[in-house]
Amino acid sequence: MANKPKILLVYTGGTIGMIKDYQTGALKAFDFNQILEKIPELKHLNCDIATISFEEPIDSSNMNTGYYVKIAEIIKNNYSIYDGFVVLTGSDTMSYTSSAISFMFENLQKPVIFTGSQLPIGDLRTDAKENLITSIEIACARENNQPIIREVGLYFEYKLYRANRTTKINAEQFEAFASMNYPPLAESGVHLHFNQHLLFRNDSEESQLIFRKNLIDDIVILKLFPGITPKVVDTILNINGLRGVILETYGSGNALNEEWFIKSLEEVIKKGVQVVNVTQCAGGSVILGLYETSTDLKRIGIINGRDITTETAVAKMMYLLGENLSQEDFKYYFEKPLRGEISLQS
Ligand code: ASP
Repeated sequence: MANKPKILLVYTGGTIGMIKDYQTGALKAFDFNQILEKIPELKHLNCDIATISFEEPIDSSNMNTGYYVKIAEIIKNNYSIYDGFVVLTGSDTMSYTSSAISFMFENLQKPVIFTGSQLPIGDLRTDAKENLITSIEIACARENNQPIIREVGLYFEYKLYRANRTTKINAEQFEAFASMNYPPLAESGVHLHFNQHLLFRNDSEESQLIFRKNLIDDIVILKLFPGITPKVVDTILNINGLRGVILETYGSGNALNEEWFIKSLEEVIKKGVQVVNVTQCAGGSVILGLYETSTDLKRIGIINGRDITTETAVAKMMYLLGENLSQEDFKYYFEKPLRGEISLQS
């Protein structure tokens, strides 16, 4: 490319876009369109940066599917103009949001990098500058005239992860995210090192970007705990209009095998509700049938979430429900890696 790469910085809210008023000590949002003035270092990067900001930036705790669509539409509407995108959101729900965006785009050929920070950009000890500057560098990185990253990534504290493999693991430390079941795509030290063999590559012949925005949010996460009662389980499974359940089980996908529990699940699956088994463990995989306590789940046709994170199970479920698939096809596509979010059965 003869010209400098063009990067669009999308600010949705979160701590990163705040500065400290040193007179009052309070954190306040600043006009993100002035970012180039606030962080002069950005001018030294070898790219042209444009910014776009939510009119009313949000704390990411208020994130929802409407905002997912808003972010995705900004990317889609600017896709042919820019070479890469850096999306700034609060870290609290960044794994959910970035996972959802990864499903909303099929055949993505440009980098979409999510980042944020634990301390506001105006704080003296901020982690925001490094996160932002390196994210932009990653979004600019090219090889053989092609972007190196062609998927949705999440960059935080020297590591680029596949976004749909991440979980926020720390509310305090700069190293706020982990990707327990997939290694980092890139690491930033003296050099920016890309782990080429781990990068997502679209294997279909199709190169046209496909955008999907029909997300269904009538779903629930049901986390098991010892002592959970039939009243609680049945109340949740009988929510009016419920379309999907993410069942957070123990260890390698185990659940109580008491008759009432299996029967309740079986009934809800028969009614056409999609039920996915994911593990409560931070790392590792569901292995249906490994223990007796998961054989019944397998028999009643529960979907095997293997090593998917809960955040990504939520995003993938919202996306696949919007596709109006038969129950059989839903299971097939949920268990199949679509954006590198789940490992193949070993
Ligand atoms: N509560 C903030 C948010 O997620 C925290 C952060 O920005 O990291 O929007």
